[in-house]
Amino acid sequence: MDYVYGPGRNHLFVPGPVNIPEQVIRAMNRNNEDYRSPAIPAMTRTLLEDVKKIFKTTSGTPFLIPTTGTGAWESALTNTLSPGDRIVSFLIGQFSLLWIDQQQRLNFNVDVVESDWGQGANLEVLASKLAADSAHTIKAICIVHNETATGVTNNLAAVRKILDHYQHPALFLVDGVSSICALDFRMDEWGIDVALTGSQKALSLPTGMGIVCASPKALEASKTAKSLRVFFDWKDYLKFYKMGTFWPYTPSIQLLYGLRTALDLIFEEGLDNVIARHGRLAKATRIAVEAWGLKNCTQKEEWYSDTVTAVVVPPYIDSSQIVKRGWQRYNLSLGLGLNKVAGKVFRIGHLGNLNELQLLGCLAGVEMVLKDVGYPVKLGSGVGAACAFLQNTTPLIASRI
Ligand code: PLP
Repeated sequence: MDYVYGPGRNHLFVPGPVNIPEQVIRAMNRNNEDYRSPAIPAMTRTLLEDVKKIFKTTSGTPFLIPTTGTGAWESALTNTLSPGDRIVSFLIGQFSLLWIDQQQRLNFNVDVVESDWGQGANLEVLASKLAADSAHTIKAICIVHNETATGVTNNLAAVRKILDHYQHPALFLVDGVSSICALDFRMDEWGIDVALTGSQKALSLPTGMGIVCASPKALEASKTAKSLRVFFDWKDYLKFYKMGTFWPYTPSIQLLYGLRTALDLIFEEGLDNVIARHGRLAKATRIAVEAWGLKNCTQKEEWYSDTVTAVVVPPYIDSSQIVKRGWQRYNLSLGLGLNKVAGKVFRIGHLGNLNELQLLGCLAGVEMVLKDVGYPVKLGSGVGAACAFLQNTTPLIASRI
């Protein structure tokens, strides 16, 4: 795609990386510091305590790792499992596919449970596998909470219920990359053993920090797990936690200050309000999609994602042309369809630090693009329907009511 200069702001609506709030940008605009000075460990201590709140855990141990979501995956797997271990992993879209590829390359024995793209994880198959596994050969269940490629959210409470029903001891490993800090996520209540996210998603930070949180059971498993690991070894972190200096290697000082401010903003809004805001903006998006006469890639309402909507286009339109046109003509960044749904869907990311009018700008842009590529949309139809919904319902921030 050729570069085209566009004045004004870019309207960033890919489902990560997302918009960074001005407060966070300002907090990160600073010099490097000595991470062995007393200041950084003191700040790290508060970050580790506060980051637990976004996982809704009190018993978990968080690790702030200089990496991305992909590295966080590897950290979760290699610290808890041994080569050859049998794991059940759900394939429902591009990101679960990539995680499964990593699991296979790390030499686990992956029992893949596949669903059509647009559907959630098949939990009936999970139940039958657990029922048949009285010898407890399954060592872990791996699931992507929110499949960013298709806009499908899996029901983690239901997974826990099935594990408990069969009193199965498998570890419960969850990719929360496009869910944590945006969707309802309860690490302790749902008995999740490792949960992970990346800084560039709902936390609204730059890319570069993987946040992994381990339950006491996962920490215990890490003592005997035989997977080769060096950079991601939790043991090194725990050693420095004990010493009170926290860092086995050099952290990005700027990201630490950014994380401090990002968490402060989330707590000021209230985590539950943040989650409800995502629900509200997602609903407005879905209302607009319906008004355009287009379909959500997500096949059932119970799986609708509140962080990303994958919109199916008619067969005579190539969805990558929508993304291209959005960027070139309107300075609007939408998400491409990936792999199996390439050309068939485009994605609207509505996660992170975002408000109603920003979203409406995106929806207006999508309408114009749809018309440009030959889809018979009535201009204003989706924006009007979304406005009517937003205007008629109560916002969540008390000072803004
Ligand atoms: N998991 C999910 C659900 C994602 O959406 C992504 C990226 O978009 C990843 C994992 C991979 O994260 P990263 O690109 O930060 O390595």
